[in-house]
Amino acid sequence: MINLGISGINVLILRMFFLSGGVGTAIFAETTGWGFFNLVMWPTWVEGLMALILLDLVVYGQHVLFHTIPLFWCLHKVHHSDTELDVTTGVRFHPGEMGISMLIKMGTIIVIGVSPGMVLMFELLLNATAMFNHSNVRIPLSLDQWLRWIVVTPDMHRIHHSVLAEETNHNYGFHLSWWDRAFRTYQRQPSLSHEHMPLGLEQFRDPAQLTWLHLLALPFMKEAEYQSTNHEAFNTGTHASPQSYVPKTVNPEVKVLT
Ligand SMILES: [Zn+2]
Ligand SMILES: [Zn+2]
Repeated sequence: MINLGISGINVLILRMFFLSGGVGTAIFAETTGWGFFNLVMWPTWVEGLMALILLDLVVYGQHVLFHTIPLFWCLHKVHHSDTELDVTTGVRFHPGEMGISMLIKMGTIIVIGVSPGMVLMFELLLNATAMFNHSNVRIPLSLDQWLRWIVVTPDMHRIHHSVLAEETNHNYGFHLSWWDRAFRTYQRQPSLSHEHMPLGLEQFRDPAQLTWLHLLALPFMKEAEYQSTNHEAFNTGTHASPQSYVPKTVNPEVKVLT
């Protein structure tokens, strides 16, 4: 419900950006002849396939940026603050992150010269894949290992949502699994089992502080501000101590995400 609340706002913003943004940019590039694919005469299917692959590479790179640039991370925290993963996590993004993503995408469309049809197809594919790899469906290990040679599976992406920073800094891919392998950010399995792996962020675990309104404000909240309200929850017994979910078998020196 919280995720659907925040996605409702995203849908509105996405629609505005989408109509005047992605597809509009592609139409502009096509009519003005801007962008690489508008300068060459390659078969449509080759251009379409390459556009999908290149756009996915940009989404991978952008995801890495959202983890490395502090301002971007403040926005991306909203996605990582979910302590349980399901399909709705796939649409749990702060509108600010959606806006920045769209601007990056518009720039990419101009440079590559992606056709309007392929922009639409990429958006549909990306949304479908995001819902798939955030779902809690159980895929047999043998099938999962085979699938993840091409696409990001739920088991592969779940590792990215681990509370441990060393695990979160892996498996950035959203659609194709190749980029994590190519850029050495691939992690095959979590240090604990998928069943026992703690998800989310260390100090954002109090359900009362994770309503959709709080999530919208979360990037602008000072850490101390959140922790003081969170601390009260500890004292009143409505919140488990952070130590209770930090896995005992993991080195206590291991950095947890904040
Ligand atoms: Zn992330
Ligand atoms: Zn995710």
